[in-house]
Parts: sequence; C-alpha cells; structure tokens
Amino acid sequence: ETILYIQNVSKSYPNGVKALQNISLTIPAGMYGLLGPNGAGKSSLMRTLATLQDPDEGSIFFGKIDVLKDKEEVQKTLGYLPQDFGLHPNARAEELLNYFAVMKGIREKQARREVVEALLKQTNLWDVRKQKLGGFSGGMRQRFGVAIAMLGNPKLIIVDEPTAGLDPAERVRFLNLLSEMGENSVVILSTHIVEDVSELCTRMAVINKGQILMETEPLKAIKNL
Ligand code: ADP
Ligand code: ADP
Repeated sequence: ETILYIQNVSKSYPNGVKALQNISLTIPAGMYGLLGPNGAGKSSLMRTLATLQDPDEGSIFFGKIDVLKDKEEVQKTLGYLPQDFGLHPNARAEELLNYFAVMKGIREKQARREVVEALLKQTNLWDVRKQKLGGFSGGMRQRFGVAIAMLGNPKLIIVDEPTAGLDPAERVRFLNLLSEMGENSVVILSTHIVEDVSELCTRMAVINKGQILMETEPLKAIKNL
C-alpha cells in the first residue's frame, strides 16, 4: 500500500529549537508539496522520513512498514535527494551511476547496464554520460540526482528543495521529470517556491515554524493566499 502516515511527529534540537511540532500528515501516491520558508522545518521532516534522524515523538508508517523501526525495510524502497549533495567533479555521469547501482544491490552486469541506460535516457543525460560532473549545469546536476534517487524503483521518494537555484525553464523540466518518474510512488517535494507546488502537485501542506498551517489541494490554497 503506497501511503505514508505521519502521526504526531515532534523534534527539538539540543539548542532548544523546536523544528517539528506535532506534525500529522497522510500522503497518498503522487506528487506532494511541502511548502514553507527557510527554517520552517522542511529539511528536518525530510531527513526524518529518509530515516536519517529520529524524532523525539511520533510514529511514521509507509504502508505497513514502521519507518522509525524497520529502517532497512524503508531504505530498500526509498529514493532520497538531499538539499545539498556533493558529487565529485571529476566523476563521469555513467560511471558514477553504475557505481551507485552496485551500491543499491543491482549486481548483475546486464541488468545494471539496462537500468543505468534507461535512467540516463529518462533524465535526458544520455548524450553527456561520458562527461565530468564538474561541467554540469545546475539543472543537469539535479536531473542526475533524480537518476540516482530512482535506482531500484523506490516507492517513497523524498526530494528536498530540488529547484532552488534552477532557472525557470530548468525548474519546469525538472518538475515534469519528477512527476513522470514518480507516478506510482509517494513523492514528497519540499520547496519555498509557490509555483513548484501549484504546477504539478496533487496535494500540499504549508509548514512554518515547525507546524503545519494547512493541508489542501494546491489550487485551493493559492486562491486563499
Ligand atoms: P528548512 O528546511 O525549512 O529550512 P530546517 O529543518 O533546516 O528548515 O530547520 C528548522 C529549524 O531547525 C531552523 O531553525 C534550523 O536552524 C534548526 N536546525 C536545523 N537543523 C539543526 C541542527 N542540526 N541543530 C540545531 N538546529 C537545527
Ligand atoms: P535548510 O537550508 O534546509 O534550512 P540548513 O542550512 O538549516 O538547511 O541545514 C544545513 C545543515 O546544518 C543541516 O545538517 C542542519 O542539521 C544543520 N543546521 C542547521 N541549523 C543549525 C543550527 N542552528 N545549529 C546546528 N546545526 C544546524
């Protein structure tokens, strides 16, 4: 069952910042927007969903999987694109994607070749597969990030502020790609850009100061802004 249940999740940091305060959300398959300004708690929630950080309280279930307990189970079906991911500038796209595919457990050579080729084509990076990542534009880097995140056909896809720094054309291209590739998965996209959620998300939540202010369909929210 491809539904994410977040219940009463709270998190404070040792410095006293209450980054998440009693967050509850039910997120179905499709693209879901988490909209909020800088410091709202988006990355804190995304890291929690990606099993990288434990909340102080609350529960999270992906279908029947207890995300906070069965971390290995979640990781098998998780694609996570963090906000700032560093990639070695001298690595070449195809080579690196091959490497990540091995890490994901796709060990059989022919299967791996097919998966890597399909992902490079879907993300429109096939023609530059032999090039070094250091020469990639922001948009190319983010699309490459999606290719990595999509390895192993994840059903839970967490993408943290992926459009920050992209020009408008690249932004739209990136969102379309994400929406196509994540069609049958739960895709959570965090952003501070209203247009990111209004264009392709089927549902959205607004977060500020660690609290959910509303949970709705994007069109309704934007009429009320
Ligand atoms: P967003 O992604 O919406 O910008 P964050 O989740 O990064 O929000 O941050 C929420 C709040 O928690 C901010 O006030 C931030 O400074 C604080 N914060 C985030 N990570 C840490 C941390 N590791 N230690 C202390 N405070 C943190
Ligand atoms: P965002 O752009 O999503 O707000 P940040 O820049 O807040 O992300 O976070 C970047 C890194 O710094 C994260 O690993 C976060 O945990 C850490 N961090 C953020 N705020 C603080 C803080 N006030 N004290 C300590 N670490 C922080």
